[in-house]
Amino acid sequence: MMNVGNNSHVEQDDAENVIAIVLSFMENAVNDAGTYVEHSGRTTVSKKDIHMALQAETFEYMQREDMDGSLLYYKEEVNKDLEHRKDLDYEDSEEDTEAETFLNSKVVKDSDMEEYSKSLCKCPVCKRFNKAVLKWDTWVPETDIEKILKKVIDTQL
Ligand SMILES: [Zn+2]
Repeated sequence: MMNVGNNSHVEQDDAENVIAIVLSFMENAVNDAGTYVEHSGRTTVSKKDIHMALQAETFEYMQREDMDGSLLYYKEEVNKDLEHRKDLDYEDSEEDTEAETFLNSKVVKDSDMEEYSKSLCKCPVCKRFNKAVLKWDTWVPETDIEKILKKVIDTQL
């Protein structure tokens, strides 16, 4: 069966794409989450804010046309990172918790949180966040990458 080899190559490529996409989301998400928090009158960014930001970024990503350049950049970063890892003693848990470690360095623990409040502000960032949250649960991802993204954001972040 000729397809077997091809399939595994495609899967690996998809996984790499998703890592690259999530990394590029993170950068924007952290900035936008900061804006959202400020506009809702709070002072600390919670995981929930980051979660909303990633949902909003997902919908942005699907509309974006200049994504390829940025995706390429992050893919290179991911590859560099993977190569770097090969030189180190490999630790099993490291890869799984990378996103979490990143989040923990940016946000406070839920137990330290002030009370959550939604932003009612009408600026583009806040409107985008609130819309994304409303849309998220009924959104049906179409491409493989969209499916993986939704799963990663729903289950791991
Ligand atoms: Zn706002």
